[in-house]
Amino acid sequence: MRISFSAEDEAFRAEVAAWLADNLCGEFEALRFRGGPGDEHSFPEERKAWERKLAEGGWTCVGWAPEHGGRGLSISQQVIFHEEYARAGGPGRMGHIGEGLAGPTIAAFGNDEQKRRFLPGIVSGRELWCQGYSEPGAGSDLAAVKTRAVLDETSGKWRISGQKVWTSLAHESDWCFVIARTEPGSVGHQGLSFLLVPMRQAGITVRPIEQMTGTSEFNEVFFDDAETDAANILGAPGDGWKIAMALLGFERGVSTLGQQMQFHNELDEIIRIARSNGAANDPLLRQRIAQAWGGLRILRYHALRMLSGAQDGSLRREAMVYKLAWSSWHAELGKLAMDVLGPQAEILDEAPYGLNRLQAMFLFTRSDTIYGGTNEIQRNIIAERALGMPREPRPRA
Ligand SMILES: Cc1cc2nc3c(=O)[nH]c(=O)nc-3n(C[C@H](O)[C@H](O)[C@H](O)COP(=O)(O)OP(=O)(O)OC[C@H]3O[C@@H](n4cnc5c(N)ncnc54)[C@H](O)[C@@H]3O)c2cc1C
Repeated sequence: MRISFSAEDEAFRAEVAAWLADNLCGEFEALRFRGGPGDEHSFPEERKAWERKLAEGGWTCVGWAPEHGGRGLSISQQVIFHEEYARAGGPGRMGHIGEGLAGPTIAAFGNDEQKRRFLPGIVSGRELWCQGYSEPGAGSDLAAVKTRAVLDETSGKWRISGQKVWTSLAHESDWCFVIARTEPGSVGHQGLSFLLVPMRQAGITVRPIEQMTGTSEFNEVFFDDAETDAANILGAPGDGWKIAMALLGFERGVSTLGQQMQFHNELDEIIRIARSNGAANDPLLRQRIAQAWGGLRILRYHALRMLSGAQDGSLRREAMVYKLAWSSWHAELGKLAMDVLGPQAEILDEAPYGLNRLQAMFLFTRSDTIYGGTNEIQRNIIAERALGMPREPRPRA
């Protein structure tokens, strides 16, 4: 794998930087470096307006194929876009679940009508999405979902009942992709379907869950006879598991580059603080800072190698290692940030939750090894799929 930037790429870099300089200012100035992990609650309305601004400039869905409304950028130009976005302090993206997960999945599995209906709303930044996978009894064991959906032939609607949990940004979303059991009596991977459900309706209640940051990025979502049109199913009834797994493959895709640039900003801030408060003279902290820097380089090359393969949602070996690697690295970075801050790390500006950016980052990194598949589950996947070890014993249904 080799990545280098041509003269054309460098011209593109200048174009991205100029657009951001011209647009991430004025009413959007306050959003710079905001809305990242632990700070997702900040400026929601302004960040939604920023999504639309990005869309007007053609800077959403930059890696999507033009036929789906994207820019069809090469991997190197996507790298450049994310680098410049992070360098300019571009805010955490409100549309990332639509752009990174729902959109690619609809493009891969949707019919023409579904693509026409849903992709433009994501590209324009006007329709936000959330992910309805986890349930109180189904997290790592996702196939245990109990949410049910029944097709009501008379009204031409799916009727959905059940509960989802940990649903990020459900309170801001217009649509949710829901894994539901559509074959009564089915168990495990069988009988599941992938439904696209409008969030703003009487049958859906969203209840925020307060996190240890004091904010509520995620929610419980209750479906009480909620409905969606019969046509809003991806694939056929029973295809839900296959599609749900492909979506998780997209989760390890190009958007990870944007995440790495944000890691870069965090590490830069830690290094700046270490220089100014004397932590850089502590021999052990210096070791850890250098190790973090080296680790981030390795993550970058690993991600580029992973992205130089097919982006079709299939789970390649590089991708199996990647979630485990970045989440463990980032969790350590959170601890390093606290140690570099020293006693100041334990002081809050205001009661109860006036966290500064690194304090919020530290607390949020506790969840990195959980969401998107826990570290234990990632190691199981490596053991079974990459190393060919026997499957771990599963409890009987
Ligand atoms: C910040 C955040 C945002 C999230 N956003 C969303 C979202 O938008 N939509 C959504 O659907 N979900 C979301 N989730 C949920 C997330 O996907 C689940 O938390 C995750 O899959 C783990 O499931 P669980 O919490 O039920 O834990 P459990 O599955 O109950 O696991 C508990 C512990 O047991 C371990 N364990 C479980 N099974 C095994 C096994 N077979 N072998 C070894 N160890 C095992 C786990 O590693 C873990 O340590 C989010 C979670 C977080 C933290």
